[in-house]
Amino acid sequence: MLKVNLDNSWPLLNRSINEIHHLFRTRQLSPSDLFEACRQRIRDTKMLNSFITCTDDLGLDQSSKSNERYLQGKPFGLLDGIPISIKDNFNTKNIRTTCASKMLENYHPPFNATVVEKLFDSGVTLMGKTNMDEFAMGSACSESYFGSAYHPWNSKTITESKPVDDKNCWFITGGSSGGSAVSVATGTCFAALSSDTGGSTRNPASRLGIVGFKPSYGLISRFGLIPLTHSLDVPGIMARNVNDVRLVFTCLHGHDPRDSTTVAVEIEDCEHLDLNNLTIGIPVEYDVENLSPTISKAWKDAEHMLRDAGLRIERISLPHTGYSLACYSILNSSEVASNFACYDGIEYGYRTSKMDLNLEDLYITTREEALNDIVKSRIIAGNYFLLNQNYQKFFEKSLRIRRLITEDFVRAFQTVDFILTPVCITHTMNYQEWNQMDQTEEAIREDYCTQPANMAGLPAISLPFKLDSDNHHLPIGLQIIGRRFNDYQLLKFSEKFQQLAQFPHLIFE
Ligand code: GLN
Repeated sequence: MLKVNLDNSWPLLNRSINEIHHLFRTRQLSPSDLFEACRQRIRDTKMLNSFITCTDDLGLDQSSKSNERYLQGKPFGLLDGIPISIKDNFNTKNIRTTCASKMLENYHPPFNATVVEKLFDSGVTLMGKTNMDEFAMGSACSESYFGSAYHPWNSKTITESKPVDDKNCWFITGGSSGGSAVSVATGTCFAALSSDTGGSTRNPASRLGIVGFKPSYGLISRFGLIPLTHSLDVPGIMARNVNDVRLVFTCLHGHDPRDSTTVAVEIEDCEHLDLNNLTIGIPVEYDVENLSPTISKAWKDAEHMLRDAGLRIERISLPHTGYSLACYSILNSSEVASNFACYDGIEYGYRTSKMDLNLEDLYITTREEALNDIVKSRIIAGNYFLLNQNYQKFFEKSLRIRRLITEDFVRAFQTVDFILTPVCITHTMNYQEWNQMDQTEEAIREDYCTQPANMAGLPAISLPFKLDSDNHHLPIGLQIIGRRFNDYQLLKFSEKFQQLAQFPHLIFE
């Protein structure tokens, strides 16, 4: 069911970054024209609510400077003039950065995140800041203060000519980076920055039929990424094909003195990776009871596809997987409780307009008015876990189990090169179905297959695999996890997977 206006700009907007760069170099297209085409696409897809803020003036300025560089034959590189979007939890200097929360509704940061700076330095054109679940807590992009983002493949009750007003019938985009995923899938940009703490890049990428990459923890600076959970957060990259993701990754990784958790490792290049001599692990623990049969079938089909291509497939065990969600919840809430102490109505962000409050009531009322229920419940849970009498029982224990989860992966990677798993647990889901569930729990339950890679700091990617065969024809993505710091190897194998899967990019054809 294809909904959003079909027009003839898709063949252009669906090109790869390499192809666009060639068009720029040979003067068949200018960065300003491309910016205009993407801007038109944003207007055409407005009903999907993928952007919180459009950066028209900046984009216009960046693209015309890029024009000049191409005219002088001196572009900065492959990303010069490429339209991108950025999730609204990355600080952008003098550009509103809201985290989709009333708390930061009018926050204009005085600095750029390192990744934003690096992208600007390579000449990109910023289209805007994308919608997300408030403070990146959620799995549907349903929890934004600015309203949900919507999936371009609509519910079958929506007809081509008449979009229904009842948005409950529309499919969820997945989250929390739903806006970034929609912006890429609909051709408003060529790549997007997202973030990934428990799956927020891979989850919406899998639902939208695009590539969503979470690099190894420590390779890309988090400086200027408004934290959800320091020890798990990683900037993510979305694009419509693996090579475009790789180009952005190459621009972004590297040690940053402003983020002490970035590492100064030389990441191995992958020249020697023999794509015909690989062993792929299938972890038995990921075959959970509540896994959608459609996703389960796609997972098996992918296994057959890889076996037919000559790869070895091996069943493996990651025995502590079952504990991972609970540990994730505890660590996530505990770090949230501490990270969110700065939102008190005094330092920055929203402040209640109620007068005559004492200091404590000012804090309470401000937070009560400006944070949603999911955020508040995590702050409360986190403070409970961090109480003196609970600290060992919950927080410390979770850290120890986290170590066991990491060791599971280390052991598995002694016998396999990559691990293939589902991304989401559920497949089709419209807002009505989603809203019937308990959001505080559901926000995390969807992360069953994705958050272990965050716990272990491993690179993981969601790759579009196929469209389901029922009448929705929604995309299904699958996840591949690699060894720590083997990010380029993972991307190289992902290109092979992409070639084998031949996923059709149908939305606007
Ligand atoms: N669903 C996860 C959560 O709510 C996603 C977090 C993320 O990756 N930003 O914690």
